[in-house]
Amino acid sequence: MLSCRDVHDLASAHIDRELPWRRRMAVRLHLAMCKHCRRLMRQLRATVAVLGRVKDADPPVSPEREAALVELFKRERP
Ligand SMILES: [Zn+2]
Repeated sequence: MLSCRDVHDLASAHIDRELPWRRRMAVRLHLAMCKHCRRLMRQLRATVAVLGRVKDADPPVSPEREAALVELFKRERP
């Protein structure tokens, strides 16, 4: 069973579908039981959606700024 901390660490990889299926299932199992992590995942997805638009921005947003935004969301705790 993953801890909330594990799920937070795996969240971006999970959204990017970079996890092996065993790991993905473990995250999904945790999400099914933990509303805090569900909320985090929802926020992170929203961030990724915004960043998707940010990538098309002119002038472009720097990778540092983008990483800082992602970190900001990952750091949020219930
Ligand atoms: Zn959790």
